[in-house]
Amino acid sequence: MSGASGRGRTDDGVEMAIWLVEGVRPYGGRPVDLLLRDGVVAEVGRGLSAPSGAHRLDAGGLVALPGLVDLHTHLREPGREDAETVETGSRAAALGGYTAVHAMANTEPVADTAGVVEQVWRLGREAGLVDVRPVGAVTVGLAGVRLAELGAMADSAARVRVFSDDGHCVSDPALMRRALEYVKAFDGVVAQHAEEPRLTERAQMNEGVIAARLGLTGWPAAAEEAVIARDVLLAGHVGSRLHVCHVSTAGSVEILRWAKAKGFRVTAEVTPHHLLLTDELAATYDPVYKVNPPLRTAEDVAALRAGLADGTIDAIATDHAPHALEDKQSEWAAARPGMLGLETALSVAVRAMVETGLLDWRGLAERMAAAPARIGGLAGHGRAVAEGEPASLVLLDPDARWSVDPAASASRSRNTPYAGRELPARVVATFLAGEPTGE
Ligand SMILES: [Zn+2]
Repeated sequence: MSGASGRGRTDDGVEMAIWLVEGVRPYGGRPVDLLLRDGVVAEVGRGLSAPSGAHRLDAGGLVALPGLVDLHTHLREPGREDAETVETGSRAAALGGYTAVHAMANTEPVADTAGVVEQVWRLGREAGLVDVRPVGAVTVGLAGVRLAELGAMADSAARVRVFSDDGHCVSDPALMRRALEYVKAFDGVVAQHAEEPRLTERAQMNEGVIAARLGLTGWPAAAEEAVIARDVLLAGHVGSRLHVCHVSTAGSVEILRWAKAKGFRVTAEVTPHHLLLTDELAATYDPVYKVNPPLRTAEDVAALRAGLADGTIDAIATDHAPHALEDKQSEWAAARPGMLGLETALSVAVRAMVETGLLDWRGLAERMAAAPARIGGLAGHGRAVAEGEPASLVLLDPDARWSVDPAASASRSRNTPYAGRELPARVVATFLAGEPTGE
């Protein structure tokens, strides 16, 4: 406990290092020193002296933001540990500046019971690199027929608050309504993968001029927008919280803007790749660009950026979707959809939103940390970089430029769409409750 020893102590009595982070710029503002002790930012000031034995970190030129929170991560465990594990995914998250991730339910077995969500939660605690928050399935086996044990998952040690059949749409409107009504009891939220399945049968990419030229079956924007329109009406009708996963079209942004104007309790996320990449990349036939929902047009990208900037879209979420080589290195039609995202999300967001002048560092922190923490109900994350707040932080070099090397990823998979690309801004350190994790 004593500062003189350079060690702090957690509630469990475990000794923790004390860190003096020197000359860092919270939200890109004026440089200050941060003293991290006992899991919190104990002091903020200029020229703070280090308690003896404290670790010092020269953070001159670095920007400090709250540790990032991901609402949409696929960790693949249990079941596909060849693609990712809770431990490898947690490491990738910490390296990307994250201090909390929501682990999607489409594992094998599906996370549709208290037992499976508790298993994922325990694996996250054992890895100890980020807070792993399991997402519970909405329906048994993601089959879209019967509601899963939502209450039992909410009451479990994992304290599930976000429920999603992600990978599949809860397409039955009566079932979706029941799920929305059910989660009200514990202030939960249903996160919908909006895709009307009858409109996307055999779809390979965005429906449009590129798909027509390539002769690939299209995934129309209306298949997403129709489900979002239906669900915001249902959420408004029953007064429940709806969260829309990976919004990808300009029309979806318009519907969300309308729903928010009506006062419905609706939030939404966009992925980094939908903020940067377009469907023209499908012309390469490189399956690394195959993702669901698909990459859209430049007009959609512009609308998504504008929607994120004006708050219509609340959060950036990675949809980090690791895949084993055999599932991705095949012809386009046979490849599984999905891209890695955790280690590149911050840099891609800086390129799409900060370099373009659409968001400043505070705005980015709101959309990558504060808003996702609120939506997920994580009180200890997404808080201000300020005295007395949790020492869960990311320190980044805003002037760094780096080239993405898939082989250097901490993920067990290699399916990044940014291989060889130069990206701006680099995470230098991540602290989870005062302990460095991003190394
Ligand atoms: Zn999805």
